[in-house]
Amino acid sequence: MIILKGAEVSAKIRDQVHELLKELDGKIPRLAIVRVGEKPDDLSYERGAIKKITAFGMEARSYAFPEDVDNEEFQKEFRKINEDPEVSGILLLKPLPDRICQEDLDRIIDPSKDLDGISPVNIAKVFAGDGSGFAPCTAEAVVETLKAYEIPIAGKRAVIVGRSMVVGKPLAMLLMKEHATVTVCHTRTVDLPGTCRNGEILVAAAGRAKMIGRDHTGPGAVVIDVGINVGEDGKLCGDVDLEAIEDIGSMATPVPGGVGAVTTAVLARHLALAAVRTKTGSGR
Ligand code: NDP
Repeated sequence: MIILKGAEVSAKIRDQVHELLKELDGKIPRLAIVRVGEKPDDLSYERGAIKKITAFGMEARSYAFPEDVDNEEFQKEFRKINEDPEVSGILLLKPLPDRICQEDLDRIIDPSKDLDGISPVNIAKVFAGDGSGFAPCTAEAVVETLKAYEIPIAGKRAVIVGRSMVVGKPLAMLLMKEHATVTVCHTRTVDLPGTCRNGEILVAAAGRAKMIGRDHTGPGAVVIDVGINVGEDGKLCGDVDLEAIEDIGSMATPVPGGVGAVTTAVLARHLALAAVRTKTGSGR
């Protein structure tokens, strides 16, 4: 089985970012990472994003707020960041504490700075197959990985495990745009293993450590693992049991070192694109 490496996909995206930056006449796009509290997952994602954005020649700043910040105060500060002309793009780390109204922020964020596709405008564009907005970075990273390795998508049966708004649903739309025949599974899916086995492309995005094994994998399947979990041994692992499917699947992404690295690279490309679109007034 061939292991699809996120670093290789990320390197291709880095070259695209460098091309985009040439259009900015030396202006360096700035990412604002907005975080409430100190959750280890958020801190880890923030570190990865800052490292990638900086490595790609751009700037990333963290705007951190205390866990007990009130909704009104947070919205006021969020609006300031949103309106700051020096900020080209925003990444809001989620989930937020219950006290903060997520829906309000989804509506407040300027769609042209909404790099992770949370605003209704960008979601509508993803569902309409209109590429002029920003799709959620992780969903786009899955398609990017398939394309970087020249894995055919058109006409293929793609099965996604997970139907969240950040991964499963937008990914279904992006794969349909590429002409795949898509099935989306969730906790009420009857015969999950049988449904998954039918996938020529199988994407695991359930958030359940190593739940996808031999029973779920069809012969020759390309398996993309989006999951980030802590396994029974305390180590980071994906939703796929790679060892179990080694002699069944044709290709698979590892965790760590797979889709996660591509997600931050896609975020970086979105940042560069946001800056170019602002400069040129274009929607490409
Ligand atoms: P959610 O918890 O929001 O959604 C999980 C989805 O998986 C739900 O639709 C749920 O079904 C489904 N699901 C859960 N368990 C099962 C099961 N046993 N059988 C079938 N379906 C199941 O998670 P996210 O979409 O936010 O994230 C999914 C995973 O991806 C997580 O591990 C997360 O850490 C990771 N992730 C990775 C990123 C990256 O950059 N690589 C970025 C974002 C997330 P139902 O709707 O019925 O509850």
